[in-house]
Amino acid sequence: MAKKRLVLNFPPHLIDQPITYQLITKYQLKVNILRARITPKEWGRLVIEVSGTKKNLDAALQFVAEVGVDAKPLAQDVLWHEDRCIECTACTSICPTGALSVSRPDMRVSFRHEKCIACELCVPVCAYGAVEITF
Ligand code: SF4
Ligand code: SF4
Repeated sequence: MAKKRLVLNFPPHLIDQPITYQLITKYQLKVNILRARITPKEWGRLVIEVSGTKKNLDAALQFVAEVGVDAKPLAQDVLWHEDRCIECTACTSICPTGALSVSRPDMRVSFRHEKCIACELCVPVCAYGAVEITF
């Protein structure tokens, strides 16, 4: 079983196409929608977690590319600038997934990409610009 977190960017003419439905029915993927921003006549964005066999996942990614949807790994769009972080820990209490966490007793802050769902809650909390979401 393979699993990926992806950002799908839909051009305006594909907004109303049942692409997520096809990922489920044609490629037998489990699709968990983490975030969605869909506005008619504008680019749409879905942040999803997909899982299934590697063969089906690869075929599904080829399908979305062929229809014109830009799919990128989520990890590419969420950046933690460790050099800017002063380990104030303000973000760790607001992060819903534990992607930003503090270890005790040394109070070191760390970021784990694989847990991040790009909810952006941490961005306004960090006064030091240590978390950057680029999409
Ligand atoms: S974007 Fe959301 S899930 Fe990711 S580190 Fe920030 S608060 Fe946590
Ligand atoms: S809020 Fe910013 S500076 Fe404070 S621990 Fe989180 S990432 Fe580091």
